[in-house]
Order: sequence, then structure tokens, then C-alpha cells
Amino acid sequence: MAETRALAGRTAVITGSNSGIGLGIATELARAGADVVLNSFTDRPEDHDLAARLGAEHGVAARYLAADMSRPDDCRGLIERAGRCDILVNNAGIQHVAPIPDFPAAKWDAILAINLSSAFHTTAAALPLMRAAGWGRVVNIASAHGLTASPFKSAYVAAKHGLVGLTKVTALETAEEPITCNAVCPGYVLTPLVEAQIPDQMVVHGMDRDTVIREVMLTRQPSRQFATVEQLGGTVVFLCSPAADQITGTTISVDGGWTAL
Ligand code: NAD
Repeated sequence: MAETRALAGRTAVITGSNSGIGLGIATELARAGADVVLNSFTDRPEDHDLAARLGAEHGVAARYLAADMSRPDDCRGLIERAGRCDILVNNAGIQHVAPIPDFPAAKWDAILAINLSSAFHTTAAALPLMRAAGWGRVVNIASAHGLTASPFKSAYVAAKHGLVGLTKVTALETAEEPITCNAVCPGYVLTPLVEAQIPDQMVVHGMDRDTVIREVMLTRQPSRQFATVEQLGGTVVFLCSPAADQITGTTISVDGGWTAL
């Protein structure tokens, strides 16, 4: 099927996009014709190869820029080095699962920095570029945990609720301009981040892998299906379309009914 190139001429910066949801979003944006900037904190040949392959496959300019989203200067520097940023997708995120008394302070700080503060810094650097270009989209990848809570995920839930709050403020500060800001709230998507949670959940709940997936993860998701990275990419492409011009300051759940419970 022929690709629609609705986003040709736009440049998208997607943080944390050398795997998982970020890579899925970058792929769908490239399929829609946007030039893309991939990012993570590593700087390996395979990171740059990934961008080259994505660009060649979809006929767009694709670059990989290493920057550590736990560091404010790197966050702002990523946008400066990109040079242009019409679409900013704040996706980088990490997780740690532990009861509050046992939750390592360093993990709390890292999760708040990467999952929340990075979006503040990239948005601060990107808004002037969007204003100069006369158009912009900020999409923050929050979570069902930006709207509800689970035990043992204090830092993650706090950061994602904070990201939903930042989304609303960004939307209000840009409300009279052709710039929107929204949060996408996925339920469970089978990515490396979720894979990494399974062993911890097995310990915390005393269950085997299959039981954790069925009884812990997908019990909250009434569809009993993981969301896919393609569906999340499609949601971001929709938010970049003219149909979404008046959608700002809100959340879109892609969670199989989780937050309807
Ligand atoms: P993932 O581990 O596959 O991807 C996370 C990405 O962030 C990777 O590219 C990683 O390299 C990058 N990253 C981590 N630390 C970084 C740092 N310091 N600087 C720059 N990049 C960094 O995980 P994912 O599941 O694709 O998660 C992506 C986002 O989606 C996260 O914000 C996560 O909280 C959110 N999310 C995921 C799920 C899910 O079920 N997978 C559900 C809801 C929300």
C-alpha cells in the first residue's frame, strides 16, 4: 500500500528511540514522511546503523544523536543539535519496582530525571524552534500509570502523573498558537522495559512468568492483549494531523480499557 506522506517537511525528535515504543513511534512518523532524529544515551555503531536503515526504508532523513536524558544539558543539547524540531516526542523512560521503604533513593532520582524532568528541558528548548517554524506538536509518552497507580511503582507513578501535569501546562502556554501538547497513556506494551519488569514482579508476587503476565500485568487490561508499538506510533501520527489541531492538554489512553475500570 502506498505510504501517505502527510508529515513530509517536518522534523521529529523522539527521545529514547533506539528500541521499544520510541522506535515504533519513529518508524510510523518516518512512514508518514517526517525526517526523524533517534536518541538514546549510548553511542554505538548499531545506533547509527538503525537510523540509516530507517531513513533508507522510508525515504526520509534519519539521524541518531546520543544524549543522556538524565542530564539537563544533554536534553537541551539534543534539541539544539537537531537544529529543527517540529514534533517532539518525550518517550525516554526507565522503571524500578520496590516497596517505598526499600526503594533506592538513586533510583527515585533517576526515574524522576529521565521520565519527567527531561520532558521539561526538551520542551523548553523546542518551543522557540516550533514558534519560529509556526507549527509544533509535543507528545509526552506517559502511561496508564499517569492516571492510576499500582503498588511498588512510587517513582514511576509520580513521574508519569507529573508528566500529565506538565502536558497541561505546556498546552495552556501554547494554546493560542499552532502548537499542541498531549500525553499518550499506554497500558502494557511488550517491550524491553516490560520484559525487564517480569523478574522483579515474579519475586514481589511469588509467581512464575506466565502467571505474572496473565494475573498481574494483563488483569488490569480488560482486552487481555498487549498494545503494540505500531498502534502507539499511529496515535502520535494522528496527533500530528490536522484532525488533531484542537486536541491539546489532554491524555489519550491506548490501554485496552484499563482506565475504564
Ligand atoms: P524500552 O526500555 O524499550 O525503551 C526505553 C527507551 O529509553 C530506550 O530507547 C532507552 O535506550 C531509552 N533510555 C533509557 N534511559 C535513557 C537515558 N538516560 N537517556 C536517553 N534515553 C534513555 O521501554 P518502552 O517500553 O519502549 O518505554 C518507552 C516509554 O513508554 C517509557 O517512557 C515508558 O515509561 C512508556 N510506557 C511503556 C509501557 C510498556 O508497557 N512498555 C507502558 C506505558 C508507558
